[in-house]
Amino acid sequence: MIARHVEEDTMPRIPVCAAVLTAAGQSLRIETLLLDEPRTGEVLVRTAAAGLCHSDLHYLTGVLDIPTPAVLGHEVAGVVESVGDGVRRVKAGDRVVVTITPSCGQCASCVSGYATRCERVSELRKRSEPLLTDTAGNAVTSLGAIGAFAEAVVVPESALAVVGDLDPIGACLLGCCISTGVGAVMHGAAVSPADTVAVIGCGGVGMAIIQGARISGASRIIALDVSPGKLELARVLGASDVLNPTVDNARDAVLSIVPGGVTRSFEAVGRPETAELAFSLLAPGGVATVLGLMPPGSRIGLDAVALIEGDRRIQGAYMGSNRFLADLGPLLEHCRRGSFDLDAMVTSVIDLERINEGFAAMRGPSSIRTVVSFAEGIAA
Ligand SMILES: [Zn+2]
Ligand SMILES: [Zn+2]
Repeated sequence: MIARHVEEDTMPRIPVCAAVLTAAGQSLRIETLLLDEPRTGEVLVRTAAAGLCHSDLHYLTGVLDIPTPAVLGHEVAGVVESVGDGVRRVKAGDRVVVTITPSCGQCASCVSGYATRCERVSELRKRSEPLLTDTAGNAVTSLGAIGAFAEAVVVPESALAVVGDLDPIGACLLGCCISTGVGAVMHGAAVSPADTVAVIGCGGVGMAIIQGARISGASRIIALDVSPGKLELARVLGASDVLNPTVDNARDAVLSIVPGGVTRSFEAVGRPETAELAFSLLAPGGVATVLGLMPPGSRIGLDAVALIEGDRRIQGAYMGSNRFLADLGPLLEHCRRGSFDLDAMVTSVIDLERINEGFAAMRGPSSIRTVVSFAEGIAA
């Protein structure tokens, strides 16, 4: 059980070891912070594993802004420790993964099947007390109201899916890169066996798209990345063809494989140029889906004639337009049957003390996902 830190006249707070961002561009510092108890509708989850996502790296380097001090991390698997009032779907001892997009299940977006666009998301994340404080009582920001690089998190019940006995090291990826990649295949772009697919960027999201497109039966899956190591793995996970844009002219090479262009392209890098490339690979009637987060103010340029005369489309899909609670059931089944390979996507496992090395290693040529393991459990 977790030890409680009791102060007079306040609810007890839970001491947790966490990796703290004090300023963009600085290394994370391991400190003890105090986590609030779960309140109405919330759940306390003991962290078992947390993935290092490129969005975290963007906050770490200052490409994206976050008020500091902050605890990053949003791709997390763990065990329910306790629940607040009104929580019915999960209970202590359940093994769960967390999504960054809690949803009310009742607003117009939710009931129309667009949970990632929930109109009450800020209400769900709003609290009377900060989730995290330092030991002096000053508030510390939690990325996405999660803050997964800590020994425990408190999140709304709707952000949780029960995953059973799946190894948390791989299961944590279901919370972000896999729900995003597979969500984009299933919902954002609705890939079918009639489709030909191009995937730009073979990191965690790209590899999830490749596997999702394979499961969906796409007739051709072309993977593009600048790293030969990633392209090798892309082929193992389902790519029919691989291309290195630093060696080949990407557009010419794709058109030589699929004359006329692909019917579905995906951008999983987070750069305007790769979004433009995704659009340029499309056949008439094709759809380009852009997933990578870009800095505010980024602009994407398109060939207007190709857009209009070819009925081509380009769309965003935040978190792949996933339907977390509906998608997880079938995804877990694919993981258990081996048709979705979770293990191959984890290229390194580290402990929390080595998290800065983990972020440095993300830039490595064959790194797909580095996962922080909290195997030792919560310090008492
Ligand atoms: Zn992420
Ligand atoms: Zn809603």
